[in-house]
Amino acid sequence: MSELHKFLFDGLPVRGMIVRLTDAWQEILSRRQANTATGPYPPPVAELLGEMTAAATLMQANIKFNGALILQIFGDGPVKVAVAEALPDLSVRATAKVTGEIPADAHLPDMVNVNNQGRCAITLDPKDKQPGQQPYQGVVPLFGDHGEKLDRLSDVLQHYMLQSEQLDTTLVLAADDKVAAGLLIQRLPVKGEGNLEGAGTAEGDRNPANEDQIGRNEDYNRIAILASSLTRDELLTLDVETILRRLFWEEKLLRFEPQTGLEGPHFACTCSRTRVAGMIRALGREEADEIIEERGEVEVACDFCGRQYRFDAVDAAQLFAALSNQPPGSPAVQ
Ligand SMILES: [Zn+2]
Repeated sequence: MSELHKFLFDGLPVRGMIVRLTDAWQEILSRRQANTATGPYPPPVAELLGEMTAAATLMQANIKFNGALILQIFGDGPVKVAVAEALPDLSVRATAKVTGEIPADAHLPDMVNVNNQGRCAITLDPKDKQPGQQPYQGVVPLFGDHGEKLDRLSDVLQHYMLQSEQLDTTLVLAADDKVAAGLLIQRLPVKGEGNLEGAGTAEGDRNPANEDQIGRNEDYNRIAILASSLTRDELLTLDVETILRRLFWEEKLLRFEPQTGLEGPHFACTCSRTRVAGMIRALGREEADEIIEERGEVEVACDFCGRQYRFDAVDAAQLFAALSNQPPGSPAVQ
């Protein structure tokens, strides 16, 4: 089962999290694979999307924000867009639009940053919006400090965290066709410092007298180096207990209760057969009948998870019969 583990380093201004998406990640892959129009993701795309889904889960779990955290990459290569969304209840979903050939050994730049136009966006979309309130969005380029194309999503996101939250962050991400996993280590915010929870503080507000500045904390640096030594293979194959013991056996960890099942990361998509039925009703009987005559069924696929919903002549007849039994003036779409 998918799981999220949070921990603190006792007495040190450092916290950490490990996410392992197993059933949730496999559900995302199997819905895509079952879609007859798209087929499965090419392995490099699945790897990228898995890393994005693990990262979105970590970032959502890392902030106190009542709304969706949406991690998007807008690509200028064969992957046009890749999206992973995590909600406060740790439900996740993800999708990618692939238009070209993906070589088996494709890296991040080959998929989304061929002509230097690719970018990554992190959106915080509040659940209960005030009138006129816009979602918060931060955009980061897919380049490093020296103009080099970044090869790994973790580097892109570490950059983002440093810029937007002003917090040192170390991320290790990995995904294959069974597991999408991530390790996040972060220096805890010092009082009054800007972070996502405080909606940002100007650079100059940081107290220069404070020893605990970005890149200056010995404890964080030591732990970050340990965290960075975790290989992708280890992250994918070892259980969380083993990973924590191997990396941090000399540190004193304070562990929180692991989050699993519905308390933990799990797959959820807002699509349903009922919703699609409503769309077909809105289309009207005549049009629905025409499509069925032509193709044998009305087929609608969810843009986000790829699940296909099919309505044949019998389904459609039932759907519109239910509608005509309703008293006049009742809403057509439920
Ligand atoms: Zn869906």
